[in-house]
Amino acid sequence: MNKMPRIVVDMDGVLADTYAKFIDRYEASFGRRPTHEELLGRKVYDLEGAADIRNAMHEKGFFRDIAVIPGAVEVMRELYDKYEVYIVSTASEFKHSYRDKWEWLEEHFPFINFQRIVFCGDKHIVHGDYMIDDKVGNLAGFNGTGLLFDALDNHYDEEYHRVHDWAEVRADFQSEREQARAMEA
Ligand SMILES: [Mg+2]
Repeated sequence: MNKMPRIVVDMDGVLADTYAKFIDRYEASFGRRPTHEELLGRKVYDLEGAADIRNAMHEKGFFRDIAVIPGAVEVMRELYDKYEVYIVSTASEFKHSYRDKWEWLEEHFPFINFQRIVFCGDKHIVHGDYMIDDKVGNLAGFNGTGLLFDALDNHYDEEYHRVHDWAEVRADFQSEREQARAMEA
């Protein structure tokens, strides 16, 4: 049997709805939520006067209570049995994020072995067959196939195959397996 293909999966914006937490912070500071149009192609903290919101990532606990993106747990559980799945998250810039993200994964994704969790400062050091990420900059340096997980801030990025949700990720990898089986037959 062939070696299982390796899938590298991002956390923020892919497993964790970190974006929603930034929007809450924006509302707390500015008394209103940013509009859909304002957020197309932009991070919350790139809006006028909102640069300080990015500093929230230095806070202890910021990454600990983020909501899970719908479908992520179920589809990750399926993929985990069929592929060599790695969680790869840039964490080094924010010292408290290491522990917060570790505990968050333990709570929501307890089936992921510690050997499959990589916290780093730059994702260009990782290699694999597929990378699921919401940031084009991470996909750009990747040796395998990049799947861009849909987010408002990457709305205008067209260089990569876009997956809109976890149901689409599931469907894409189902067809990947069917193609691989057809090649073997
Ligand atoms: Mg991300």
